[in-house]
Amino acid sequence: MAPMLRLYNTLTREKAPFAPIDPGHVRVYACGPTVYDAAHIGNARPIIVFDLLFRLLRHLYGEAHVTYARNVTDVDDKINARAAERGITIRELTDGTLATFHKDVRDLGVLMPEDVNMPGERPRFIEPRATDHIVEMVTLIEGLVAAGHAYVAEDHVLFDVPSMADYGSLSKRPLDEMEAGARVEVAPYKRSPLDFVLWKPSKPGEPSWSSPSGIAAPGRPGWHIECSAMSWKHLGKTFDIHAGGIDLIFPHHENEVAQSRCCFGTPVMANVWMHNGFLQVEGEKMSKSLGNFITIREVLNDWPGEVVRLAMLKTHYRQPIDWTVRGLEEANRTLDRWYGLVGDVSPARELPAAVLEPLLDDLNTASALAELHRLDDPASLKAGAGLLGLLGQTRSGREQASVQAAGIDVAAVERLIEERRAARAAKDWAASDRARDGLAAMGVAVKDSKDGTTTWSVIK
Ligand code: AMP
Ligand code: ZN
Repeated sequence: MAPMLRLYNTLTREKAPFAPIDPGHVRVYACGPTVYDAAHIGNARPIIVFDLLFRLLRHLYGEAHVTYARNVTDVDDKINARAAERGITIRELTDGTLATFHKDVRDLGVLMPEDVNMPGERPRFIEPRATDHIVEMVTLIEGLVAAGHAYVAEDHVLFDVPSMADYGSLSKRPLDEMEAGARVEVAPYKRSPLDFVLWKPSKPGEPSWSSPSGIAAPGRPGWHIECSAMSWKHLGKTFDIHAGGIDLIFPHHENEVAQSRCCFGTPVMANVWMHNGFLQVEGEKMSKSLGNFITIREVLNDWPGEVVRLAMLKTHYRQPIDWTVRGLEEANRTLDRWYGLVGDVSPARELPAAVLEPLLDDLNTASALAELHRLDDPASLKAGAGLLGLLGQTRSGREQASVQAAGIDVAAVERLIEERRAARAAKDWAASDRARDGLAAMGVAVKDSKDGTTTWSVIK
């Protein structure tokens, strides 16, 4: 029996013990990036938070007993527009953006499919792409039309919202508010203003596929149907946990629920719905449209990925985070202290219970980190931090990461150290001081040991 994990569920607005539908197979879906442009540091929050959930579930249920699907949206209006703007094909744009995203999140210490999947076994981490699942989307859409929950109008297929008695059960919004919130374009072919697009015609030059029956012209899917199709294909009609940012609750997740439940006649799509809070800048959500964003890569140019990860995990995932340089500096100091403590010891076999317990309480990372601060046994610290995806480097690896993040030119440092050594050998103290000042200007401190060797480190 796995120790009891409690999770807050947006569907019930309560924290409750988590019990997988199939005790031998936990299934999790998270909405992933739309790959039209480099991801910003706000987009990194769900990736890191649900990576931690995946790690925790693997610890509790066993690595072979958890399947995690995090999709890639590679068909979208923004993608079409950006590809046309840059004069490249859609596939060139999405492949390039996805490669950048992979590099970004790997540097944040996020597990990747190649880290966890085993040849010949059921995949543990799947990264499905929307354009590889058009057949499943068409099947779902045709099923919804056949069941009387969708209709064809002017080469579109629309979901018939009034046909679902309990539409809105996830976001729990009153109907008039949903109408305003949906910001759906008023279109003559819609029966109700809340009805949303499952399929639409493609404009010339846009990617297109064979449409569901009843429509001769080729077309392309709406956004919401993608996730219903991919989660069904990889996790089944009903699964355990569906995750994403809080802004996805309405309309995206509400509409996913409507599609999947009405197509399959199931009472729920996923049992537990988890949503992370916003990463904010001066009290406002970081977003592309507000223009107040920094890309993950820009942050990683200044800070090692582990520092960013720790700064992100210091706040509980449902609370907003204010993103500040002070938070990063603090995380950097913490990691320095911890790396100093653990040196290169191996992690303890047993996870420290004091660190695991708060994580079992709806991923209370703030308390888990406070407990890590209290540990003085290096092996326990290393094991506990490891569960959070931290302290994974050797001491020299960490030093190297700081050097890289500080943008220090190692060859130039070594040149100055050699000049200083030669000056000291010649008792030219003025030249030796000049070399030391040059190093300090680069942000490097030198230390001479008794045995005559000189080491250097980054000034914090
Ligand atoms: P998008 O590319 O806007 O669809 O966002 C991808 C993921 O990042 C979704 O799960 C969003 O909810 C999440 N997200 C976007 N902006 C933020 C933010 N400022 N803070 C936290 N999560 C965000
Ligand atoms: Zn989704």
